[in-house]
Amino acid sequence: LNFCFRAAAWLVFIGDDDTEETRAMKEKPRLVVLGGGWGGVALLKDLNPDEYHVTVISPTNYFLFTPMLPSATVGTLELRSLVEPIRRILHRCRGHFIRAQAENVEFSHKLVEVSQRDLNGQEVRFYVPYDKLVIAVGSTTNPHGVKGLENAFFLKNVDDARKIRNRVIQNFELACLPTTSDEERKRLLSFVVSGGGPTGVEFAAELYDLLNEDLSRHFPRLLRNEISVHIIQSRSHILNTYDEAVSKYAEERFNRDQVDVLTNSRVKEVKEDKIIFSQKLEDGSVVTKELPTGFCLWSTGVSPTAFSITLAKKLGDAQTNRHALETDTHLRLNGAPLGDVYAIGDCSTVQNNVANHIITFLRTLAWKQGKDPETIQLHFSDWRYVAQDVRKRFPQASEHLKRLDKLFEEFDKDKSGTLDFGELRELLGQIDKKLTSLPATAQRAHQQGQYLAHKFNKMARLSQGLLANDVKDGDLDAAAYKAFEYHHLGSLAYIGNSAVFDLGEGWNISGGLWAVYTWRSVYFAQSVSFRTRMLMAMDWAKRGLFGRAFKP
Ligand code: FAD
Ligand code: MG
Ligand code: MG
Ligand code: MG
Ligand code: MG
Repeated sequence: LNFCFRAAAWLVFIGDDDTEETRAMKEKPRLVVLGGGWGGVALLKDLNPDEYHVTVISPTNYFLFTPMLPSATVGTLELRSLVEPIRRILHRCRGHFIRAQAENVEFSHKLVEVSQRDLNGQEVRFYVPYDKLVIAVGSTTNPHGVKGLENAFFLKNVDDARKIRNRVIQNFELACLPTTSDEERKRLLSFVVSGGGPTGVEFAAELYDLLNEDLSRHFPRLLRNEISVHIIQSRSHILNTYDEAVSKYAEERFNRDQVDVLTNSRVKEVKEDKIIFSQKLEDGSVVTKELPTGFCLWSTGVSPTAFSITLAKKLGDAQTNRHALETDTHLRLNGAPLGDVYAIGDCSTVQNNVANHIITFLRTLAWKQGKDPETIQLHFSDWRYVAQDVRKRFPQASEHLKRLDKLFEEFDKDKSGTLDFGELRELLGQIDKKLTSLPATAQRAHQQGQYLAHKFNKMARLSQGLLANDVKDGDLDAAAYKAFEYHHLGSLAYIGNSAVFDLGEGWNISGGLWAVYTWRSVYFAQSVSFRTRMLMAMDWAKRGLFGRAFKP
């Protein structure tokens, strides 16, 4: 009851009674969005104004265009060109913004518990009521249990990028001092990137460009051969989630540019002045090595936020994934009351449960026919029928159900010419895995945000009575809108005055400067506002004319 009072107090404070317009909004369903990143903003951009009373809660009051963040660390782009104030984005749907952090959710009372620090550093907590809640809080950097990460740099937000930029410049300045020994200078100019994914690779490429293009101009005393860039990657290739041809191209390119790529290597500890890592050699033996360094970037994949972990724990058995919040195919958070809470973007994963659905369906069928389901054997023609059913329920599975004969043969482990339940479950389980491994990318978060916007728009119209009678078993989502389907539009990465594209299905482009411009124009088009686009264009033009802005 206490928090109901506080929630009511909050409603007054937000100023809904200020104007005629806001008074009208007060009657609308309350849509609360946690997080103003790719997922949250994609939702806000496509939501019909006037249908919902929108509130965004996030500790950051700007949207960050992350794909360009590596460029900003070395001054190719200005940081302010990459951000868009959330309040500006919210203006369209007359939404409210609360700069605070979500801590917990009271699912049964439909309240989000949030916290913020006041000017004295005291924590203030309060509750925000919702009718629909969208969780889009993203992820944090994965520490992988490595020691000494307080000595490493991260690249997630604007502050991180600024810190990196200052450190890189500071290292150069220190290296130039007459009192710096040769050995110390080499160490200061040794840059290590831990993680060979797109972020690490792009940062290394940007850094390399900076060293080559601008350094001689600003720091004529430093010798190029005293500077080194290293990438430490635990797998056998960098960009290992991309097509093989793409990661090969990137490796060759780095090889030519003398960026040192250390594969099959794992960082064990980051010290102030060196990195300790183990490397698996070709003969299978493992050696421990040291690398003196003046800078280490840590970018080795993503982990759930503390908030996501709290929710997963609270929902108990309904949440079984250790890496993300599980949703159904309509992006509803598993375990929460149906249709109240959604999760999108990096913090979430979609669970299809293909195997469970189909097996339950077959079981029921068997019982109805008076058979014992455990003894059922599916012939190829039965399997074809089942596959048809899977396609109908899970359209996104179709592309994994192309070679039915091959699948049948592969999973008929005992070569009986039939599939029993165990074999079928394994087959469907494998398809399920392929469906659930959605990438932690802006592309995916954006698609999920858009999907929810379109659905919410439709549902707002529905609840005005149009289809409401047809909705069976209270599943308004399924009645209103199709399930979420991810469309992979390709990946791309910048690798030093050239870019690589992985468009899936063996379509790769890689190339020189023209590719960079294509790469830029792709992101240009995705960039959120005209204002941001103008700022980026100006930065690129400035860089072309005057070189990078070598200042913090
Ligand atoms: P985010 O965009 O991270 O947004 C999360 C939001 O939630 C933030 O506003 C955050 O402040 C807020 N938040 C966090 N905790 C809370 C809380 N407790 N309560 C309320 N709000 C909270 N993807 C690509 O597709 N292509 C690329 O080229 C690419 N490059 C990248 C480069 C870098 C340097 C990085 C870091 C990422 C890159 N990504 C790229 C990945 C992409 O940025 C993420 O996949 C995407 O941001 C995920 O969107 P999201 O909405 O889930 O989370
Ligand atoms: Mg978001
Ligand atoms: Mg973001
Ligand atoms: Mg998210
Ligand atoms: Mg068999």
